[in-house]
Amino acid sequence: MSLDPNIILGLYVASIVLFILALRWMSEVRTSKYGNWSASLGMAIAVVATLLAYTIQRIDLLLGALAVGLIIGVPIAARVPTTALPQRTAMSQAFGSLAVALVGVAEYHVDAPNVPPFTMTVLSVEMILGFLTFAGSCIAFGKLQELIPGRPFVYPGKNFVSLAVLALAGIAGIYLIIEPSQGFALYILAGFALIFGFLLVMGIGGADMPTVIAILNSYTGMSAAALGFVLDNKILIVAGSLDGSSGFVLAVIMSQAMNRSFTNVLFGGVGAKVAKGTGAVAQKEARPVQSYAAEDVATILDNASKVVIVPGYGMAVAQAQHTVKELTDILQERGIDVKYGIHPVAGRMPGHMNVLLAEAQVPYEQLWEMEKINPEFPDTDVVIVVGANDVTNPAARTKVDSPLYGMPIMNVDKARTVIFIKRSMNPGFSGADNELFYLPNTWMVFGDAKKVLSDLVAAMKKS
Ligand code: NAP
Repeated sequence: MSLDPNIILGLYVASIVLFILALRWMSEVRTSKYGNWSASLGMAIAVVATLLAYTIQRIDLLLGALAVGLIIGVPIAARVPTTALPQRTAMSQAFGSLAVALVGVAEYHVDAPNVPPFTMTVLSVEMILGFLTFAGSCIAFGKLQELIPGRPFVYPGKNFVSLAVLALAGIAGIYLIIEPSQGFALYILAGFALIFGFLLVMGIGGADMPTVIAILNSYTGMSAAALGFVLDNKILIVAGSLDGSSGFVLAVIMSQAMNRSFTNVLFGGVGAKVAKGTGAVAQKEARPVQSYAAEDVATILDNASKVVIVPGYGMAVAQAQHTVKELTDILQERGIDVKYGIHPVAGRMPGHMNVLLAEAQVPYEQLWEMEKINPEFPDTDVVIVVGANDVTNPAARTKVDSPLYGMPIMNVDKARTVIFIKRSMNPGFSGADNELFYLPNTWMVFGDAKKVLSDLVAAMKKS
């Protein structure tokens, strides 16, 4: 027996409010953990309300599906390191979009052969989006996990072929709207949508995968919203729309932070030709650099009054956030003003540095966004760059032929001294050599970030 529809509606409204609050709270570091709880609670209420809305015929199947989800999901959530979060997100998205697409197939079979034209239209759009997102997300996962080459799969007429494949999927959908009894067309639609998703993401370089994931995320949301119309399920319409629009906004923000346009990300493969894994990594220049030990850095920090720490992907790899915090505490105890400069695309996903530093209990007031910290650098005694690279590269301002040209960067080169902690002279994600290494005010300290910082903390404690 199902529950009173008004109670179900009330539960749906409660979960919608929680989803909206989640998006609001997640936009600020201080409130982001409430956002996480709010979204989880909203989803739990939505699932329970949906289960109560229908008379369940086969509880065994439902419990079986729940068990499979838990067995796969819990270890993934517990074990995947933060450095692999983009891949993990790609896989969650692949499963989500496949589920949406398969529910669409099932819904077609429930109504076939008498599927009304409006329902068939929405189902066709929803299945195309679902299947293409599934294939695209799997390829994005493969590229990020380096299971398949990151370089874009480019050939003459690439965009024409891709669009032709998408058009064939669309024609199969139109045929189904006219002749809903012709079930074979549904499998043609699914096949071409899968091929389109495969071609779309294969044609994009590994460097753009996190942005692609945000775009695919918005497709999943849109297909879920479309399915909501078919199933007349309001929570699916609202949650899908929120997902679709927030994924889109995120992709726009990421593209802007990397100075890329959507068309560039989706069709150009531009920039990818110099990205890692493409076999075209920039030539390192044989110019002299100044290399120092952690102990030397302790001396210069002793005489500083204003320090800015700029973290990047290397801090995540080294898991050095706790040691960074330890160093900050020592500096602050000595009356030194310490701030963190956070670039919007430092690391490998939006908010990557914020998450790690929050984990190490760094107060959010100490985190300064790029626009706010940049005017501070000319007045800063020492900048410590911890495993960041591209986001500090002055070539972004000056070298027109650099893949980073035009990307807003942290102007750390304007500080009096720059301490650059990394393991080697290797370039960062873009493959571009960093001009900063060779500047007279830059001190390179080679080594794993955690090890170098531990040595620095030990040296500071002695001094
Ligand atoms: P980055 O340019 O990729 O540089 C990271 C540096 O960390 C490397 O040069 C590496 O040098 C160093 N490193 C790696 N492991 C280390 C370790 N254990 N200890 C010390 N150093 C280590 O990183 P970023 O400056 O954070 O810039 C992010 C890049 O990712 C940008 O190009 C951005 O456009 C791109 N991206 C970001 C996002 C996002 O959402 N955040 C999305 C897509 C793309 P060594 O190997 O010499 O140690």
